[in-house]
Amino acid sequence: MKAAVLTQYGKIEWKNVPTPSISDGEVLVRVKYASICGSDQHVFRGEFHPRTSVPMIQGHEFGGVIEKCGKEITNFQAGDRVTVDPIFWCGNCPACEIGHYPACLSLKLLGIDVDGGFAEFVVAREFMLNKVPTDISDKHAALVEVLAIGFHACKRANVRQEDSITIYGAGKVGQCILQAVRTKTSGPVFMIDILDTRLHLAHQAYPDIITINARDVDPVSVIHEHTNGRGVDIAFEAVGHAVVVPERLHPVRGCIQAIRPAGTVCVLGLSDTEAPLVMKELIFKEAKIITSRVTHGEFAETLHHLEHGHLKPDALISRIMHLSEAQQAFEILEQEPEKYLKILLRV
Ligand SMILES: [Zn+2]
Ligand SMILES: [Zn+2]
Repeated sequence: MKAAVLTQYGKIEWKNVPTPSISDGEVLVRVKYASICGSDQHVFRGEFHPRTSVPMIQGHEFGGVIEKCGKEITNFQAGDRVTVDPIFWCGNCPACEIGHYPACLSLKLLGIDVDGGFAEFVVAREFMLNKVPTDISDKHAALVEVLAIGFHACKRANVRQEDSITIYGAGKVGQCILQAVRTKTSGPVFMIDILDTRLHLAHQAYPDIITINARDVDPVSVIHEHTNGRGVDIAFEAVGHAVVVPERLHPVRGCIQAIRPAGTVCVLGLSDTEAPLVMKELIFKEAKIITSRVTHGEFAETLHHLEHGHLKPDALISRIMHLSEAQQAFEILEQEPEKYLKILLRV
């Protein structure tokens, strides 16, 4: 088969590799579209080393058609359209003991820890498979994983009808949180970033949201003005590597100041740097600060909302290229991040 192989960090080659074989409990999926994730970019740059090692095949956001099933597969057959939940957990660690798989001590992902979907074929286990309804296109099937990240964050933060929401970060994850949030609440949503292009994308898809460029105005003041000093019920942080804007708070502290008393802050951005916080601000509000990492069974919910037209997947797609152009696609994302959300790779 052909695959986009990361042969060394920073270099993807389109080349022939052996088509993987399957065991009795596995299926072979013919990939239709795959999507490039922010973590794929980290892997590409070598920032996941030594967790990742080259050569490898990336790709954990993809959809396709089952080509072949192992003997033990009971609920799926060749020809089924599927999207693949890329996570597998160990089953033995303290997190797995209580069924909290996203916190598994040795959580693994297809496309990071084992070969993934930037190839004509990929191997998956039965529990990872989700059938894709006919009303959902192959392109949109490749976005189910990242959209499900938004639904998981909503579940972690317990978003309810009429809740008001702040989302720091209008990148890939922030936009997916926005889409999930809008299936749950019609309350006010504030979206914050320092790139107008990203805020514009969010606003085009959801004209009722209030976008705030933190370079121009102080997001916390704007939120309090709009909510008569009350603050929002829930604030999500999806920035990750925060760019320090003079006279502005770090996004996590901004979230704490933006929520109402007894509100919730949900942090998703993965950063290695410290977030300066004043815990008193959280304590006086008796507020909750929680985190959200990957997904935990939200594929079904995401597929349901996609099937019924409740989401705007096209708003996430900046460009479609062929998988053979993966190197070019990664270079574009590295060079002009502000112009792109998702690049889809057609196989
Ligand atoms: Zn991802
Ligand atoms: Zn575990």
